[in-house]
Amino acid sequence: MQYDVIVIGSGPGGYVAAIRCAQLGMKTAIVEKYNTLGGTCLNVGCIPSKALLDSSEHFHNAAHAFASHGIKLDNLAYDFGQMIKRKQEVVDANTSGISFLMKKNKIDVHNGVGSFKDKNTITVTKADGIATEITAKNVIIATGSKPSSLPFLKIDKNRIITSTEALTLKEVPKHLILIGGGVIGLELGSVYARLGAKVSVIEFMDGIIPTMDKGLGRELQKVLKKLGMEFYLGHKVTGATAEGDEVTVTFDNPKGEKQELKGDYCMVAVGRVAYTDGLGLDKIGITVEERGRKIPVDEHLETSVKGVYAIGDVIKGAMLAHKAEDEGTFVAELIAGQKPHINYNLIPGVVYTWPEVAAVGYTEEQLKEKGVKYKAGSFPFKASGRARASGDLDGFVKVLADAATDEILGVHMIGPRAADMIAEAVIAMEFRASAEDVTRASHAHPTYTEAMREACLAATENRAIHI
Ligand code: FAD
Repeated sequence: MQYDVIVIGSGPGGYVAAIRCAQLGMKTAIVEKYNTLGGTCLNVGCIPSKALLDSSEHFHNAAHAFASHGIKLDNLAYDFGQMIKRKQEVVDANTSGISFLMKKNKIDVHNGVGSFKDKNTITVTKADGIATEITAKNVIIATGSKPSSLPFLKIDKNRIITSTEALTLKEVPKHLILIGGGVIGLELGSVYARLGAKVSVIEFMDGIIPTMDKGLGRELQKVLKKLGMEFYLGHKVTGATAEGDEVTVTFDNPKGEKQELKGDYCMVAVGRVAYTDGLGLDKIGITVEERGRKIPVDEHLETSVKGVYAIGDVIKGAMLAHKAEDEGTFVAELIAGQKPHINYNLIPGVVYTWPEVAAVGYTEEQLKEKGVKYKAGSFPFKASGRARASGDLDGFVKVLADAATDEILGVHMIGPRAADMIAEAVIAMEFRASAEDVTRASHAHPTYTEAMREACLAATENRAIHI
C-alpha cells in the first residue's frame, strides 16, 4: 500500500498526528505493535493511573472526610478487584474510542511491529511472523518510551515492579517501597497509601518532584506525610532483592551510612527511556543519543533523514501526553505546508496527587539562575471560600511576574483541581498577559480559580483581597 504518511506508534503523539494528517487530506496509515491503540498513555499510563487515583480518592474521602460533612458510613470497605476491573473498563472504553476515530478518519490501522526497510518503506511484522510492506512519502516515528531502571536493579515484574505492574496488582501492598520521588511514583504511591499501604519513598535528590518549583515539592511532601507516606530524601539506593513475598531495598543515607527497608513490593519509578527497539533505525542511518536513547530532531521535528519525523517521548523534552499531542499536530501541519508553532516553555506539568500540583513557565530557581528580576505573589487555599466549603485547605497558587513589565513568567500551584486550573495560566501566558490583566478579568465566585486572581493581585502591589 502507498500512503502520504505512515505513523509508527499509536500513543497520544501518533494517533493525534494520524488524525490531523487525515483531516488535512493525506492518505494515512498507523502501525501499532499491540492489539489496542492509545500507547502508554491510554493503556498503562495517564488513563489507568487516573482511574485508580479517582477510586482510591473516593475511598479515602469516605474514610476521612465524609464524617465532617455529616455523612455516616458503617463498615466501610473497598473491593480492590472491582477497582482494577473498573480501571480496565475505563482503559477499554478509551482505546476502543481511538479505534473508532481511526475508522471515522479513514486511517488504515496495521497491527504489528513497524520497521524501516528504507526511508519510505515500512515492514510490518505481525505476532505470527507474517510481514507486509507499506510505503509512504513521509514517516512519523511516535514509538514512545518504556520504564527505565537502575543498572544494578533487576525488575522481576512480580515483587520488584514498574508503574505498568503497579496498575494491575492483585492485592494492596502492605509496605510499598518506592524508588524515586517523581510524578509517576508519587501518583501511584498515593493510590496505595490511600488504600492503607505503608509507602516509603527513597529519593536521591533532596526534594520530591525535583524538576518543579521547590515550594511545590515542599508543600506536597507535607500533605503526603499527612497521608502516612514516609520519605528518605538525599538517599541513594544501592540494591533491591526479592525473596518469596519479601523485598529488601538497600540504600545509603546522606552521610554514606548503609540502611535497608523491607516490604512486600518495590516500585522502581526512576524515569522512562525512549523506545526504539525493532524500528531498524540503523537501516536509514539514524543514531540515537547516548543518554536517554532519544532520536535527534531539528526544530521542525525532522530527523537527519528527510521526510522522517519523530515526536513525543521518543524525542527530547518533557515526557508528557499533551506535549506528544502538540507535536503530532505540529508535524502533520508542517507536512501539509502550514507554519505551526509550539511554545515549549508553556507546556504545563501536572501531578495528580490530592491536592493536585500544576505548573507552567519558569520556576523561581530558573529565574534566579537567568538573572531575571521578578515579583512573586502567593495565595493560600485556606483563605479561599470555595476551598473552605469543600474542605480542601492545603496548598497555594504562586504567580511569578516580570519585575519591570508585569508579564507572567511562571505559575506554580498545589491545590484542589490545580490540573484544570493551570489552563488559565497557560492561556494567559500564551497571550503574554500581565498579572494585572488577570486581576481585571472576572472570576466566578466561589471557585478555586479565584486563588489565581488573588495570587496575581498579590504579585501586583501586594493587593490580594482575602488575605
Ligand atoms: P506512547 O504513548 O508510549 O506510545 C508509543 C506507542 O508506539 C506504543 O503503543 C507502542 O506499542 C508503539 N510502538 C513502539 N514501537 C513500535 C514499533 N516498532 N512498531 C509499532 N508500534 C510501536 N503524561 C501526561 O501528560 N499526563 C499524565 O497524567 C501521565 N500519566 C502517566 C502515568 C504513567 C503511569 C505513565 C507511565 C506515564 C504517564 N504519562 C502522563 C506520560 C505519557 O503516558 C507519555 O508521555 C505519552 O504516552 C507519550 O506518548 P507517545 O505518543 O510519545 O508514546
